Amino acid sequence: MKKIILVFIIGFIIISCNSEVKTNDKTPKRDPNSFAIVIHGGAGNGIVPENLNEEKQKVYKDKLQEALNAGYFVLEKGGKSIDAIQEAIKVLEDSPLFNAGKGAVFNSEGNQEMDASIMDGKTLNSGAVAGINHVKNPILAARMVMDSTKHVMLSGKGAERIMEKLGLEMVDSSYFFTSNRYNQLKRLQGNQTRVVNTSNENILNDNKYGTVGAVAIDKQGNIAAGTSTGGIANKKYGRIGDSPIIGAGTYANNITCGISCTGTGEYFIRTVAAHEVSNLIQYKNTHPMEALHEVIFNQIAPLGGEGGMILLDKYGNVFWDFNTKGMFRGYKKSTGDNVIEIFNLN
Ligand code: ASP
Repeated sequence: MKKIILVFIIGFIIISCNSEVKTNDKTPKRDPNSFAIVIHGGAGNGIVPENLNEEKQKVYKDKLQEALNAGYFVLEKGGKSIDAIQEAIKVLEDSPLFNAGKGAVFNSEGNQEMDASIMDGKTLNSGAVAGINHVKNPILAARMVMDSTKHVMLSGKGAERIMEKLGLEMVDSSYFFTSNRYNQLKRLQGNQTRVVNTSNENILNDNKYGTVGAVAIDKQGNIAAGTSTGGIANKKYGRIGDSPIIGAGTYANNITCGISCTGTGEYFIRTVAAHEVSNLIQYKNTHPMEALHEVIFNQIAPLGGEGGMILLDKYGNVFWDFNTKGMFRGYKKSTGDNVIEIFNLN
């Protein structure tokens, strides 16, 4: 009897080992030491060739390239994905071209209130800030919440006080002002006259959205994601969108992927968009491209939402999708691929 049991056990082990080898053969693998970064600079229906001549496209593309290079540089040196996305997002926040940091949109009362979040896919540690307007780089504030507090999200004055204490660079709220965004608010509020001269004519006029985000995978295979925004132009005072909400606008998990979203935040919150995509990959084995399509076109769009998402999976593959006319986006990989796109190419 003992012998029979022993033979059975050995047989079982051999079968299991074989089947494991077979599964592994089929499973895609990440090249050891490979790395990649993908970024977005917002999605919208105003992002069409009629609104962006070659010269304007070049201005946007150059800035997106600068952000990709900043993140790539960190990864190339063997740095962490969380540091890479932070560096990339900082470049975009410092540029008035995008709706994050300097150049953030105005709320209905003529103020700028910024949100940001960051997530580490290895530990699931996360940090977020909402409704701030004195920290120069909101993504650094999100990182600080993650690294230096025991909380995940801080908002408004409390967040700013803590950030100042922790030594982050603080600025007067006038630092974030751009006349282009201010004129945009006045237009949205029905005032057709330009109240201030536009300082940067290269900025897309009808850029209602323009949030920025980044996802990276480092040489160790760790994924991180982050998002930063001024929210939606003419939003109500105190309104918070999806960008600082972990699972809605940002999500990273080494066992699936990292995601950053952009679009009408209310719908991304209601569908818990980024986490939903990750869940489809994890539990239903859905291909990342199909998962993005399912959430954007079958969940967000029917509710009336629009926008896009960038995704980097655990093998270092980049995917994106959007239901708007355009989305500023790009990626750079250790394989040498470097792509930047603006319009819908389908
Ligand atoms: N999702 C952002 C928000 O709702 C806006 C955007 O992505 O443009 O605050």
